Amino acid sequence: MKRKSSLISQQMSSQRKNTALLAVISLALGAAILSQAGLLAEAVQRVFVERATFSSVIALLGLLLIVMVVRTLLSYGNGKVGLRMAATAKTNMRAAVLQDLTQASMPSTLRGQTGGKVSIALDAVDEADSYFSQYMPRMMEAAIIPILILIVTFTEHANTGFIMLFTAPFIPLFMILVGLKTKNKSEEKYAQLAEFSGTFLDSLQGLVTLKIFGRAHRQQQEIERSSLGYRDATMGILKIVFTNTFMLESIVMLSIGIVALELAIQLLVFKSMTFHTAFLVLLLVPEFYSLLKNTGTAFHSGRTSMGAIHKVEQMLEETAGKSEDLNSTEGAGTSDKIVEIDNMPPIMELDHLRFQYARDSFELKTGEITMGPGEHIAIVGKSGSGKTTLLHLIAGLLKPASGTVRVNGSPLSQFDENAWFKHVSYITQHPYIFAGTLAENIAIGAGGNITSAEIERAAEEAGLAALTAQLEHGLGTFVGEGGRGLSGGERQRLALARAFLKRPAIILFDEPTVGLDLHTERVLQRSIAKLAKTATMITVAHRLYTIQQADKILFMDNGVLVDAGRHDELLERLPQYAEMIDIERKRGEHHE
Ligand code: ADP
Repeated sequence: MKRKSSLISQQMSSQRKNTALLAVISLALGAAILSQAGLLAEAVQRVFVERATFSSVIALLGLLLIVMVVRTLLSYGNGKVGLRMAATAKTNMRAAVLQDLTQASMPSTLRGQTGGKVSIALDAVDEADSYFSQYMPRMMEAAIIPILILIVTFTEHANTGFIMLFTAPFIPLFMILVGLKTKNKSEEKYAQLAEFSGTFLDSLQGLVTLKIFGRAHRQQQEIERSSLGYRDATMGILKIVFTNTFMLESIVMLSIGIVALELAIQLLVFKSMTFHTAFLVLLLVPEFYSLLKNTGTAFHSGRTSMGAIHKVEQMLEETAGKSEDLNSTEGAGTSDKIVEIDNMPPIMELDHLRFQYARDSFELKTGEITMGPGEHIAIVGKSGSGKTTLLHLIAGLLKPASGTVRVNGSPLSQFDENAWFKHVSYITQHPYIFAGTLAENIAIGAGGNITSAEIERAAEEAGLAALTAQLEHGLGTFVGEGGRGLSGGERQRLALARAFLKRPAIILFDEPTVGLDLHTERVLQRSIAKLAKTATMITVAHRLYTIQQADKILFMDNGVLVDAGRHDELLERLPQYAEMIDIERKRGEHHE
């Protein structure tokens, strides 16, 4: 239970000033409500009972008008403070979610639906709004103003005070009962919404694949199913809310009726009270109940918000738990990330690495391997033998379950992540292109202060000049989502241009498996070679040429790093390797 509200209490403690402001405004609002009722009762008493002239009450009416204006302003102020609190809280929560997503480890990033995460980051955080903008101000008002009203009513006419005191608890009692019900419902609604958005986004992203495999229709049904689920959950909540409102209204009407009856009897039958008192009390009673009733609505939206906030918390806790798991396996010395790295190609060592994505599945194992500064390493092996996994371990994108990756003699886990990635470029087969111009896409990750001349040079070195020359807007052309599409070769050249701006000490390269045209391949090869002159380069290699040129070849078989050495060495002592090369060679001849 303590954990559940921790995010809220965190927000609350960071917003003490606003909470205090809410209390002060509520107090003033209470005073305004009381004065308004008092002035109105006085005016009516004078005009209708004492038959005073209009001019004699004009000052009174003026004062009443001012009090009413002040009351409106105070109400507005309370709302404003609530909105400000909500905005701050949402900004903080969204930042926490984003930070969580960006700092999460690779495995946890890959887990779960992207759409589901988007839904939490956007919708759930939005829904948290009403906790601060509605629930907080209303609760503050409800905690202060009804007590003021009660005090005045008791001093004016104790009987009514008792009636109010007796009926009031029914409202919160009832609210709590209903609120508990909606809380579960709204958590359910969140699960449904996240699933719905998840299915939707994932289907959109995979639309081409789905179409090709004739699955688009099935997926449509899937979307329909989860959208119906979401609708039902929403309707369920609405049903509870409407019943809730109806019951609350009934209780309030009944209570006001009882008070009015009592007042009428006192006034007309027993003649035991003045008109002024009766009228004043009758004005205050509806205010009292309407405040409590507002709390009911606020309580409901507060509950919905709690459901949403709980979802966000769950997500934050989940990833926090996961990364703790991962860190704990690394052993001592992980906390002080102090090791510095300069821009010289480092010595890298693999020391008995072990890694598994999940229990009882694929396991990666290595022995001791040293990769000298500036060496060009090729990782080879069949598809699924663990080449990419090894590359990710070397990059620090995955954390080994045991064993160490050492860079210049220090474990990789002791490096500051940002400092490390500043010196690493990873050119995947499908580099991600962000929505934006070509220039913006190249400049990504190179830090600030990049001139357009530098970007142009990088593009040229990566062999993009021919492409940009064709384009009307050159490097200013929009690419990525909503922009011009890029071919596989162009994407890789873009990734290369990013690397040319960065001039990394370590290059990780996932060589294209599918054949690019000869020209593109030459351009790529030449650019990579240029970039690799000043770096340690580790390539998941498929091209015979790349393999033969490598200073060291790491041969992977079924997750095990079997052997490492130069091409001619491996040819001689590793029959599996010779066999692989033989197949590659034949395939190469076939293609020519
Ligand atoms: P390669 O690059 O040699 O084709 P990978 O390193 O990509 O091989 O994959 C090695 C094995 O690990 C495969 O059996 C693959 O199914 C599995 N694998 C790869 N990525 C994941 C992942 N994110 N979660 C679980 N298993 C994975």
